[in-house]
Amino acid sequence: MHVTTRTMQTSKHIALVAHDNCKTDLLRWVAEHKDKLQGHTLYATGTTGHIISRETGLKMNCLLSGPMGGDQQLGALISEGKIDMMIFFWDPLNAVPHDPDVKALLRISAVWNIPVATNRASANFMISSPKLTEEVDIEIPDYEGYLAERLD
Ligand code: PGA
Repeated sequence: MHVTTRTMQTSKHIALVAHDNCKTDLLRWVAEHKDKLQGHTLYATGTTGHIISRETGLKMNCLLSGPMGGDQQLGALISEGKIDMMIFFWDPLNAVPHDPDVKALLRISAVWNIPVATNRASANFMISSPKLTEEVDIEIPDYEGYLAERLD
């Protein structure tokens, strides 16, 4: 499929997700970077979002809990171009019941070419990038173009 471009605005739509064993670590990371994060629109799976909101006061758009469909809701938002980047502290040491959803979320993030941080070090790189507050063009699949060719 050919590619086209999507422009991310200066204020980003950022998704935050953490598996249960990683929630404390994500919460600590969010608290450390609260000043930078509050200039953006934040989304999260249900439990992660409610904990962050309660502990930091940040305004969160909370989806359903991950295992109850929240990962899939997030995947849908990514497919629609409504999420610009994702911080996803998934648990590499324990199995989760919604493993297929986790895989799907990571896959769809790759399809739509959004930056994804899966641990503290990569999240630190992402949050300290000057691109966080700049307009950024990313390449995305040109599905409209593909469809136009197919229907020609
Ligand atoms: P939760 O979901 O924030 O509702 O715990 C996280 C996940 O995707 O497992």
